[in-house]
Amino acid sequence: MKSLDKLASLFRRLPGVGPKQAERFSLYAVKASEGEIEDLVEALRAVKSSVKYCAECCNYSEENLCAVCANPSRDQTIICVVEHPQDVAAIEKTKTFNGVYHVLHGAISPTEGITPGAIKLKELTDRIKASDGAVKEMIIATNPDTEGEAMAIYLTRLLTKYVHRITRIAYGVPLGGDIDYLDEVTLGYALRGRTKI
Ligand SMILES: [Zn+2]
Repeated sequence: MKSLDKLASLFRRLPGVGPKQAERFSLYAVKASEGEIEDLVEALRAVKSSVKYCAECCNYSEENLCAVCANPSRDQTIICVVEHPQDVAAIEKTKTFNGVYHVLHGAISPTEGITPGAIKLKELTDRIKASDGAVKEMIIATNPDTEGEAMAIYLTRLLTKYVHRITRIAYGVPLGGDIDYLDEVTLGYALRGRTKI
């Protein structure tokens, strides 16, 4: 059926949705009440119209400043740089970080055609330069893959003059995980990031 196929092909554009799941979502739409469909459409529209970038850290926010940047008890002199908004959520869940963030929305990747201009890099350099030496530490928490590593080196070279201390997070050994199941990059980080016990 044309309308079902069309809907399934739209669902397939969603991240992580395979053909089976797209089909199930489409069949849900057939069974759902008019009200449920309205709610879904309304929620999609609301997200699109009200969510924008935080003026400070470029995370998604409904206000000019996100909840972290607007919180006066957060330490504005420590900036943790991440690739994606979901990385902020993951770090916030650990409840171990009281600084602020900067969300790049990606990492430079020549193979995927992601240039420095395609991510929120200028916003970060402008922010750090404008702080006039007030930023004590920049923690680079980009992904431990090729792009994330290259991004960390790039950021360090770019901003070393403007920040007192630049650090890279240590990727720890997952609790309950076996050391031999870790790939070498993860394990290398875990070793380098070790702390005295
Ligand atoms: Zn913010």
